[in-house]
Amino acid sequence: MAVSNGLQFLHELHLKLKAVEEELETGPRLIKARENVLAKRQAEFDQAKAKHTDQRKLADQKSLQLKTNEAKLADLNTKLNMASTNREFDILKGQIAADKMANSVLEDEILDCMEQVDKLKNKITEAEKLVADAKDDVRKITEQVASARSGLKERSEKLHPAVAEAETVIPTDYIATYRRLVQAHGAEALSVVENNVCTSCNVSLSPQQGVELRSGKLIFCISCGRLMYSAAK
Ligand SMILES: [Zn+2]
Repeated sequence: MAVSNGLQFLHELHLKLKAVEEELETGPRLIKARENVLAKRQAEFDQAKAKHTDQRKLADQKSLQLKTNEAKLADLNTKLNMASTNREFDILKGQIAADKMANSVLEDEILDCMEQVDKLKNKITEAEKLVADAKDDVRKITEQVASARSGLKERSEKLHPAVAEAETVIPTDYIATYRRLVQAHGAEALSVVENNVCTSCNVSLSPQQGVELRSGKLIFCISCGRLMYSAAK
């Protein structure tokens, strides 16, 4: 195989390996994103439940207060029936009127509270459904990632030795430089030359480099340092 063809093949394998490795890394990130959504939905559900409990407690407290007030009112009515003076009668009458007014306000408040309790109950139902949906999403994406993973792993395991095999096109003298380039740029350690220009940095080859490239010599870009090759025609 001509050097250029060998380098092109090596570059293609590097790019394939990179794509596979990126896909392998994407999987856990996708799962994490769904898990974050689930955690948020769960927190919203818990919050809705807590609000509902608080509102119920408030309604119970107010109902209890109303019962106490009604007992007090009954007591005042008894006292009214037994009032011995006009003055006592008037005072009790005034108290009863004020207490009745207070109870009426309290009754309205209790109705409002109960309405809120019902609304919050609906919210809990909605929030619960969203939690279930989010759980489902996590389960689905986890399954998807797991099923894709074995295939990707298999491809990665085949590509590693294939890259090593393709690297034999590089003469021993250049291996160290090549390794440094791979360390720095990964799959982009190599660059294809098109129309006498390095496609990695868009800098033209010197006439000397053009000659060397055509003669099958290994050359590195004077600008970006990448190992260059010309594309198969
Ligand atoms: Zn370059």
